[in-house]
Amino acid sequence: MNLPLIRPSQRAVSVMNCRFCHTPLTHTFVDLGMSPLCESYISQEQLNQMEPFYPLHVFVCENCFLVQLDEFVSPEEIFSEYAYFSSYADTWLQHAKTYTEQIVERLDLHQNSFVVEVASNDGYLLQYFVEKGIPCLGVEPAANVAQAAIEKGVPTRIEFFGVASARQMAAEGLRADLIVGNNVLAQVPDLNDFIGGLKILLKPDGVTTIEFPHLMCLVAENQFDTIYHEHFSYFSWITAEKIFAAHGLTLFDVEELSTHGGSLRIYGRHTEDDSKPISKRAIKLRQRELAAGLNDTTYYSAFAEQVKETKRKLLEFLIDARREGKTIAGYGAPGKGNTLLNYCGIRTDFIEYTVDRNPYKQGKFLPGTRIPIYHPDKIRETRPDYVVILPWNFKDEIMRQNAFIREWGGRFVVPIPEVQVL
Ligand SMILES: [Zn+2]
Repeated sequence: MNLPLIRPSQRAVSVMNCRFCHTPLTHTFVDLGMSPLCESYISQEQLNQMEPFYPLHVFVCENCFLVQLDEFVSPEEIFSEYAYFSSYADTWLQHAKTYTEQIVERLDLHQNSFVVEVASNDGYLLQYFVEKGIPCLGVEPAANVAQAAIEKGVPTRIEFFGVASARQMAAEGLRADLIVGNNVLAQVPDLNDFIGGLKILLKPDGVTTIEFPHLMCLVAENQFDTIYHEHFSYFSWITAEKIFAAHGLTLFDVEELSTHGGSLRIYGRHTEDDSKPISKRAIKLRQRELAAGLNDTTYYSAFAEQVKETKRKLLEFLIDARREGKTIAGYGAPGKGNTLLNYCGIRTDFIEYTVDRNPYKQGKFLPGTRIPIYHPDKIRETRPDYVVILPWNFKDEIMRQNAFIREWGGRFVVPIPEVQVL
């Protein structure tokens, strides 16, 4: 992928305004320095070329507490040809199937209902609604993944979702009983346009469920490596509540999920629809966030120092290990690994190579750090003393699959929330 700069980046500090409430952003959440786009893997032919780096400087709005990054690349560039097909991840498919069972029962959906998923990817979720004979429609901007959905029999429109597309659908007589949005909210540059679209498309008694990584987990578990240029916004419950309320939508329930290191699934309805009272768990979550200080800038200021300390501890471990003559390999080449390695300045001087099961990444190099990516067999061939697990959210699975490193005394290293040798 070639991702061009859409705006000149000659700014020392942000001149950006909050993408929700337009307050000028002056308060830093964390500054991870300059970083390349985390999905731009480098091929052998590109090794002698330069790479664009963009600031990974995250701000928090003092008015609404939305944590956010400026857009340095256009969503059209990121999403028009997307390499990520949801259906390749078994655990994610199971998650989608379980959700379908639950929501169909809870909302009593049937053959006269209508379900819309925004950012429907390759139809990984809507296929289960199709199976049940419930009419549905996906909205997906990436043509290649949308095509895969259509081939599976999931009706899909290839476009970005927002006020204009919602108006168009409403004009065609399409209004939804359920609108689903999973892991899309962080990637929406124009939040007000997106949520305004939900308001238009939702039937008077309809429900929308949206899943996103929970900011409180990001902070508590020190998941700063989940910050990358493709994720523009990071949400707490209290901020999500404000944003939806501004568009006439009330959040009335929430589930806390373990996906992506801790996510929220929020339930929204029209504010006028008083048939769905606000649940106890929604009220409790709001209280927990307020008690933790999420409506106070000091909560956000503390995070930056915590991140610096994590970097120092990880580097300490790597320096000591290398001084002792130990060999270190990586496992995985996820986006989060790239944020971590670039921020900490870890290159082949510490981690000689990494491995990944995705054939698309094998033979390429990590952006910025240029660490080579091999097939997982490389670990058995080279017998490293340490294997650093970059996708820490799958660490149990990875340790199980690679338990053979114990044969030569190899150990696993998990860098987040704090360096740990297992
Ligand atoms: Zn704001």
